[in-house]
Amino acid sequence: MLENYVTYLNFLSGKFEKFFEKQKPFIFCKKGCGKCCKNAEFPYTQIEAEYLMLGVWQLDNDTKKIIADNVQKIKQQKAEFKGEVFKYDCPFLINDVCVVYNFRGIVCRSFGLMTVGKNDKIKVPFCYKEGLNYSNVMVDKKISPEKVKALGVEEEPAAFNVSYDFLTDPDFERGFNFTFGEKKPLIDWLILNPEENNEQSQNNI
Ligand code: SF4
Ligand code: SF4
Repeated sequence: MLENYVTYLNFLSGKFEKFFEKQKPFIFCKKGCGKCCKNAEFPYTQIEAEYLMLGVWQLDNDTKKIIADNVQKIKQQKAEFKGEVFKYDCPFLINDVCVVYNFRGIVCRSFGLMTVGKNDKIKVPFCYKEGLNYSNVMVDKKISPEKVKALGVEEEPAAFNVSYDFLTDPDFERGFNFTFGEKKPLIDWLILNPEENNEQSQNNI
């Protein structure tokens, strides 16, 4: 089943490559940025979490130890959290680089693009406010046609249907013959001490 999921990921990668290429004049993503891997929820389905763990198992012991420490700290913060939505820095972001990049989940692959979701609502990545993606064409929270023109770009930025809900739609399960499984925050998939959880899990770090 994991094999079929990887086929789906390859299909997605092809799409994302084209989308990012099309948006190139407005994109400032580069290795070592990683702001989108901080202070978020990171929804993951079971199959995404399992695939991510394949990447973790390939890491050296020192890196695994750093991840385990990060996970422990985040779980503790979550246990003490009293608000509604717990947000955290991804435990796999080390020195602002994703250490499981090739195994990252679906939501991670869509970071940085302008998306269109339910009710045709367009969402610009938060990082435009920090002078990053789309910041060169945003004025007063809107795309400025004048700015686009000044860049010498013919087409205005496009929003793509790459919302997490859409990309994890059951239609893709049927089309590629795999099952996403349960959906929950990434941190809840990660198990530090299997004995405490009274189970042997492939999500152990
Ligand atoms: S898995 Fe990697 S890309 Fe995804 S949020 Fe974590 S550090 Fe970022
Ligand atoms: S999406 Fe924004 S925050 Fe994330 S790597 Fe790209 S520029 Fe940086």
